[in-house]
Amino acid sequence: MDWSQTPLGPIETWPASLRVAVELCLNSRFPMHLWWGPELINLYNDAHIPVLGKRHPHALGQSAPRVWSEVWPLLKPQVDAVMSRGESTWNERTHVVLERNGFAEDGWFTWSYSPVRDESGQIKGLMCIATEDTARVLAEQDRDRLEAQRQAEYAAERAKLAAIVESSDDAILSKTLDGVISTWNAGAERIFGYTAAEAVGKPILLLIPPERRHEETEIQQKLARGQRVNHFETVRIAKDGRKIDVSLTVSPIRNAAGQIVGASKIVRDITARKKAEAVLASQSEELSRSNVELERFAYVASHDLQEPMRTVQSFAGLLIRRHGEHLKGEAQEFLQFVTQGVQRMQALINDLLAYSRVNSQDAAFARADCNQIMAKVLENLRASIDAEQAHIMVDALPTVLGDATQLGQVFQNLLGNALKFRGKEPPRIRVAAERKAGQWVFSVSDNGIGIEAQYFERIFIIFQRLHTIEEYGGTGIGLAICKKIVERHGGRIWLESKPGQGSTFFFSVPDRNTTP
Ligand code: ADP
Repeated sequence: MDWSQTPLGPIETWPASLRVAVELCLNSRFPMHLWWGPELINLYNDAHIPVLGKRHPHALGQSAPRVWSEVWPLLKPQVDAVMSRGESTWNERTHVVLERNGFAEDGWFTWSYSPVRDESGQIKGLMCIATEDTARVLAEQDRDRLEAQRQAEYAAERAKLAAIVESSDDAILSKTLDGVISTWNAGAERIFGYTAAEAVGKPILLLIPPERRHEETEIQQKLARGQRVNHFETVRIAKDGRKIDVSLTVSPIRNAAGQIVGASKIVRDITARKKAEAVLASQSEELSRSNVELERFAYVASHDLQEPMRTVQSFAGLLIRRHGEHLKGEAQEFLQFVTQGVQRMQALINDLLAYSRVNSQDAAFARADCNQIMAKVLENLRASIDAEQAHIMVDALPTVLGDATQLGQVFQNLLGNALKFRGKEPPRIRVAAERKAGQWVFSVSDNGIGIEAQYFERIFIIFQRLHTIEEYGGTGIGLAICKKIVERHGGRIWLESKPGQGSTFFFSVPDRNTTP
């Protein structure tokens, strides 16, 4: 730098005060600059260069008003105060618009001006220490903006939550630790009949029938331990004194420090549900009573029908035996029909009797080994198994808790059907059991004629058959008995089948503890 070209002249000619000031400036790592003489010639240290930006290096030795032309209107009064009156100045985090990079930019600075006097005590220059705050200010602005945004989102969330609470069908209210209602939504007004103005500030006991006050104490104790009370069904009172069946959920409310300061209550009006439950209970009681009556009727009727049936049968038999040869062809044929009809009637009555007895037998459930039961069933069916040339596979079966005779009846009916409803091939039947979700599921599969899906329900109804008596014998009661027995054992019966592809009948029996 050739200082002789500047109003300061060659360095050798500089007054001692200027040299001291320059040395002070150059030796500092704080950004400092010095303006000297009437032209305010600019001298600065390295730390000041970032503030100058593109103005460095031409700014060295130039007059300050030219270097800082865009901000001079701001600086000038302060410079004048220093230069003419010897006053120091102080600016803190002051906003200035600088063009150090060739375009206008916001900047923030903290700076001080102090006068520098020469040997004679006259003010000759101005020393400035300046630090830039721009980065910090921008970071703070960002942080403030984020905070404001967060606040706005929080407020929006709260407003949304408030709207949800307000539009809820349930009563949502809160109370303080000492049991005073502090908030009250529209649902609460609808259910209890008090407006928010009437309820807020009142004790929560307002809503609790006197005989249930102890509940509040218990709830309070749970809350104090920080626990929630979930779907607690109880009774509350409305403004008009009406008792309301409600389901309560009570949760503690904590402050920012985690201390419990109150509780929120969600109250659902379950009066309608309770009423429906009561109606259902009385209907099902009514139904089971009429079922019992019906069973009793069927039992009595079928039992009493047996007697006259036997009379008809024995006299028809006598007639054939004693007077058969005297009867003409047609009369004999008619008598044949009478006997057949009577036999069928007897079969129907017997089945009806068996059906009506399923529940009345009342044998206590005991350990029943299904392998033994099955062996007996196979023995009973031996003749038809041989006649049909059937192949029967029986897997290992479990021991269950039940009525062995009745379970035998189920197996026998299912196996009997599998033999009866056979296809062209000799019957292949498999009996198996599988444990599934706490149940034993038994299955009897065959390769018989199969059943169309539309009849899956119908065949379990008493006297419902899919064939004429000429095609396949039977009364249509076997599966109805099976269903009744299985249900008595707490299980279910169903089937899978396709016409021409065989059927599998399943029934379940709960796997209760069978250890003696
Ligand atoms: P029944 O055997 O006396 O007719 P069920 O109640 O045992 O009476 O059966 C009702 C109807 O279900 C039968 O008439 C028959 O049409 C059908 N069915 C039952 N088991 C089978 C089977 N294994 N294969 C095909 N059809 C069956």
